[in-house]
Amino acid sequence: MSAVIQDTRENKTLVSLRNLNKHYGDFTAVDNISLDIQDGEFLTFLGSSGSGKSTTLSMLAGFETPSSGEILVESKSLVNVPPHKRDIGMVFQRYSLFPHLSVRDNIAFPLTIRKQNAAETAKRVDAMLKLVQLDKFAHRRPAQLSGGQQQRVAIARALVYEPRILLMDEPLGALDKKLREDLQDELRHLHRRLGITIVYVTHDQEEAMRLSQRIAIFSHGRIVGLGSGYDLYQNPPNAFVASFLGNSNFLKVKAQGNAAASFENQPLAIRPTAGLHDGQDLVLMVRPEKAQVLTPEQSAQTPLAAGWNEIPAKVAETVFLGESLTCSVVTSGGTNLTLKELSGATQPLQPGAPVRVRWAAADACVYSEWNESDLTKAAGSH
Ligand code: ADP
Ligand code: MG
Repeated sequence: MSAVIQDTRENKTLVSLRNLNKHYGDFTAVDNISLDIQDGEFLTFLGSSGSGKSTTLSMLAGFETPSSGEILVESKSLVNVPPHKRDIGMVFQRYSLFPHLSVRDNIAFPLTIRKQNAAETAKRVDAMLKLVQLDKFAHRRPAQLSGGQQQRVAIARALVYEPRILLMDEPLGALDKKLREDLQDELRHLHRRLGITIVYVTHDQEEAMRLSQRIAIFSHGRIVGLGSGYDLYQNPPNAFVASFLGNSNFLKVKAQGNAAASFENQPLAIRPTAGLHDGQDLVLMVRPEKAQVLTPEQSAQTPLAAGWNEIPAKVAETVFLGESLTCSVVTSGGTNLTLKELSGATQPLQPGAPVRVRWAAADACVYSEWNESDLTKAAGSH
């Protein structure tokens, strides 16, 4: 018999948030959040400012007490465990380093207060200095370091006592774009090497995509989407997530059966969707790069395949962006769409030119519920 070796780590829940709530007076900052965090994963809370990300993270860290609900680590409640006993490291946007201590002493601090012996402390601090590539700066003070270096000290300090979970709240928010991207790459590699569980907070969707294995999308104190960046982008669970993550075009249509709809009085194929009734209002979502803009001549040369749609429109403007090109068009019914294509193949089209917009039904998501405000963030506007 051959031995079956299974990597079970991926499916092991380390932390469970159960019906977690946080009220401030009659304001609900965190609204009944339930979430399982896997052992060893890099999970990011992504949402706009005020959506409840930091409050949720603070409850996990122990700096805030839930109004109700549970936080379990390996099925044991954490709610009455003080922060320093939670086996959790934390890094904030403000580096919060001790200005009068050297880099070495800053990193050693968590071990010093835990009364770790000197030899072990020195060994671990050396390892951390290497890990974040600051060995040459061990004797400097924080003020003698750049912002990125200071944040690496903060990361090393959070990791030195080998916590099982590392929480990071907008840790790169104060750094400029290039440095932020470098540190994002470093963090991703660090996570891979250490196998530690990281819960990360950001309002920057690109950062969330770059770093995370899974993203939890926050809105008004709730998690409204959870999954890999790939899945959330390709198949957003709702119109809010579609408009929040990446750019999207929304078309208001009426269902005709389960796989067809009408848009501005034209028939369309849609993804087969169970439970629709004729005339039901729906929203279709098409990503800008999933639809093609064809000239009438190109359209005539390439017949429409089954399961594809084509609608007439007029060019509003085209913007050449180097590697890509965006083309904004208006349909005869006045719907604005923004399409994106790799540049090279076609010349930018002139405003007013008649075009045909073509996409596969399989590439358009179908929503039967939405808020008008979710649809107003037009494609290409961010
Ligand atoms: P995020 O980190 O997503 O920007 P927060 O979790 O910090 O959002 O805050 C969520 C909401 O809770 C915000 O509207 C914020 O003003 C409110 N809030 C946070 N902390 C407090 C507090 N101590 N007292 C009152 N309201 C708070
Ligand atoms: Mg915050």
